[in-house]
Amino acid sequence: MKIVSNSTNLKSFNTYGVSVISKFFSVAKKEVDFVQAVTYCISNKVKSIVLGGGSNVLFLNDIKKDLVIKNEYQVIDNIGFGILRVSSGTALSSIVSYSFEHLLSGLEWSAGIPGTLGGAIVSNAGSFGGEMKDIIQSVKVIEISFNSKGEYDNFVIKRMKNSECEFEYRSSIFKKNPNKYIILDADLKLDFILKENLSAKKDIYIKNIKKKKETQPISERSAGCVFKNINMDIYKSIFRRKFVRFLKDIGYEWDLDEDNRVPLGLIFDKLGLKGKKIDTISISEKHANFLISNSDNVKIEDLYSMIYLLKSKVYNMFRIKIDTEIVLIGDEKKAKKKVKGFL
Ligand SMILES: Cc1cc2nc3c(=O)[nH]c(=O)nc-3n(C[C@H](O)[C@H](O)[C@H](O)COP(=O)(O)OP(=O)(O)OC[C@H]3O[C@@H](n4cnc5c(N)ncnc54)[C@H](O)[C@@H]3O)c2cc1C
Repeated sequence: MKIVSNSTNLKSFNTYGVSVISKFFSVAKKEVDFVQAVTYCISNKVKSIVLGGGSNVLFLNDIKKDLVIKNEYQVIDNIGFGILRVSSGTALSSIVSYSFEHLLSGLEWSAGIPGTLGGAIVSNAGSFGGEMKDIIQSVKVIEISFNSKGEYDNFVIKRMKNSECEFEYRSSIFKKNPNKYIILDADLKLDFILKENLSAKKDIYIKNIKKKKETQPISERSAGCVFKNINMDIYKSIFRRKFVRFLKDIGYEWDLDEDNRVPLGLIFDKLGLKGKKIDTISISEKHANFLISNSDNVKIEDLYSMIYLLKSKVYNMFRIKIDTEIVLIGDEKKAKKKVKGFL
């Protein structure tokens, strides 16, 4: 594997098309490439940032020291008993096609989710009532240890069971510990299907794509839902009462998902935020939790400003701190200083 230090522009490696320069860049096509990359990082006292499809990230600034590894490790093995061993750079859509060819099902819910298996495991991606955690049997990782100065020190390669991955709503141990794990592959446990039931499974997948197109701006530049939905369990205070009153006022039917969450897109919609713009970024008219780029040269400060202002708005109204679902990579303190506009 070659480490390139030619200042690679990551514009084509993230779905927002944000233009940021990574001084050091490499492409991993097999397991040993990741091992070499981590060895390089330990020797050079830098960290690694793995990029899958770049469909769930926002870079806040140029990457001057750390090594960005574009994941192109794409192998699928049917190892029997309904288990596919899939390397982390494989697109979810390719896994679905492969599973249908092998009369296996279980990923129909992932219809229309761009990106790789690695990224989907990190965020425990989910849709239409399904989530990665439902099909993960184990995950093979490089686990990196840090020294007392917070630098990379050493690494081991190990296989983690589903129960060790701490999967939660749009989160996992991998998301909670940035730079500590590199996901190499995963064993996915799928269901056997009879040949005569295959077209019914394919129909579900196609219907899900159709539903997604109807309800989400999937042909626009975005990174999916920017914020996590609001978990009602953690707001037991007076502010919860204020928020509940607001929900009643907007005629919200108490239809929480199994995780007891209120959809944030709906809240933004009812607050009249659809279509609001900060120069190169707009709140989608189709789904208000999607921030879409309306320019080929989307500006990081527009995107970050929109995120910051939406967070502030919800906090000021309800004293509720909303979390981003997308991963912000870079210096948030510096980004805050450049916040512009108002909502
Ligand atoms: C139009 C659209 C619709 C979407 N719909 C959904 C949806 O319905 N449900 C949903 O959950 N998400 C959705 N998303 C968000 C996104 O597609 C998913 O979260 C996807 O799984 C991210 O995968 P990725 O490969 O693009 O990850 P990336 O964006 O490349 O990475 C995300 C994070 O994971 C880390 N990472 C990636 N690969 C590895 C690895 N191998 N090892 C360690 N860390 C890694 C990255 O460093 C980063 O921190 C949508 C996005 C778009 C643009």
